[in-house]
Amino acid sequence: MSPDVQQSLSRGQRWLKENTKRHAFRKLDKEIIQPGICTECGACVSNCPVEVLVGDRTSGRFVPTLIGKCVSCGMCYAICPRTKVLWSELVGEFRSAWRVKSLDETGKRQDGGAVTAFLTYVLDQSIADGAVVACQDPKSPWLPVAKLVTNKTKLPECGGTIYTHAPVVQEMMRGYRKGFSTICVVGTSCSIDAIDNMQKHPAGYFQMDMGADVIKIGLFCMESFDYTGLVQFLKDDGIDIKDVDKMAISSGKFRVAISGNEREWSVGDLNLVAAKSCSYCQDLTCKNADISCGNIGSEDGWTTVLIRTIRGEHIFQETLAAGLIEANLLETKSLRIIEKSARFKAIRHYKLSSSH
Ligand SMILES: Cc1cc2nc3c(=O)[nH]c(=O)nc-3n(C[C@H](O)[C@H](O)[C@H](O)COP(=O)(O)OP(=O)(O)OC[C@H]3O[C@@H](n4cnc5c(N)ncnc54)[C@H](O)[C@@H]3O)c2cc1C
Ligand code: SF4
Ligand code: SF4
Ligand code: SF4
Repeated sequence: MSPDVQQSLSRGQRWLKENTKRHAFRKLDKEIIQPGICTECGACVSNCPVEVLVGDRTSGRFVPTLIGKCVSCGMCYAICPRTKVLWSELVGEFRSAWRVKSLDETGKRQDGGAVTAFLTYVLDQSIADGAVVACQDPKSPWLPVAKLVTNKTKLPECGGTIYTHAPVVQEMMRGYRKGFSTICVVGTSCSIDAIDNMQKHPAGYFQMDMGADVIKIGLFCMESFDYTGLVQFLKDDGIDIKDVDKMAISSGKFRVAISGNEREWSVGDLNLVAAKSCSYCQDLTCKNADISCGNIGSEDGWTTVLIRTIRGEHIFQETLAAGLIEANLLETKSLRIIEKSARFKAIRHYKLSSSH
């Protein structure tokens, strides 16, 4: 190898050591090469600073293969076009990260009640004319109905998580049709991405209607469930969904509270009732939101909050100053837990069976 190339690869090696978690070739082999996700580009082979990788031509395929001692420098995994390593691509950019708890103990909340507190402040101060949230359909418990709320006192009854897709974007548009100018929308990344498209696409609504404005509160999301499937899943275990007080997913468990009792299953048990669309989704933390909220990274009773935009920063700081929430900065350990979960989601679709 020429000294220049060697020097450049060593510099890259150093950057990885100082800035990110490094993965050895073993991980690249397990996640990308063995399952057939490899595009045979040869980047890993040609970027190995210690030259222990070769492209083995097997049955017409180029298969990166280890022929010496891997020093776990992380280079091959980092530059592979099929892996995700950088914080920016896994969790997205954010200005600050917090653990937040609402100081209002009344009403429904999923974790720390941060989302409801932000919405309360935004409506109270007329920063937005309305907030789009998801509430349960009174006729079909746990079936989400997107709702445009204008009165802050109505927010707590729509607190908590409903683990099924809710058409919040349609409800937002209903608001603009009624003459609203600024709407704060709560949604998972699939919904927030639609709004982001409407903001950035040259033909998008927000490019055309200069008077319309939106504030995006994103929810972390690993997956949601098909409503009918979820009803049946619970029924098979003798539970009528109308008796369920709360559903929650954390630490790989799906928990259901019924009249003070709790039942739990491994999240994997619900695979058959997971919404099919979620298999293709890669964004855990809602990268296009102004503020992203979830529970990963915080203990029970607190919401993890990522402030992504200046506007999100204003809402967060003012809600804090108004005494509606308490907040502590999130430590690196918690951020790493979020990063790990985000990586899991970003590449889990590789496990889907290929039609070829
Ligand atoms: C389908 C789904 C999956 C999730 N998965 C994860 C996960 O894997 N890991 C994680 O850390 N967090 C996940 N969350 C986010 C988490 O459950 C909480 O919503 C978040 O931590 C905020 O809690 P909070 O107490 O601050 O919110 P609250 O103050 O209780 O407010 C929650 C707000 O979300 C709205 N809402 C509820 N359901 C929906 C819905 N389906 N669509 C749009 N808005 C809704 C409510 O109307 C309410 O305004 C998920 C949320 C959803 C909707
Ligand atoms: S030494 Fe580095 S680049 Fe080479 S195989 Fe190991 S981790 Fe990959
Ligand atoms: S860098 Fe990734 S995609 Fe390219 S040959 Fe290596 S494993 Fe395959
Ligand atoms: S996993 Fe993705 S598609 Fe499914 S509800 Fe969550 S954000 Fe939407």
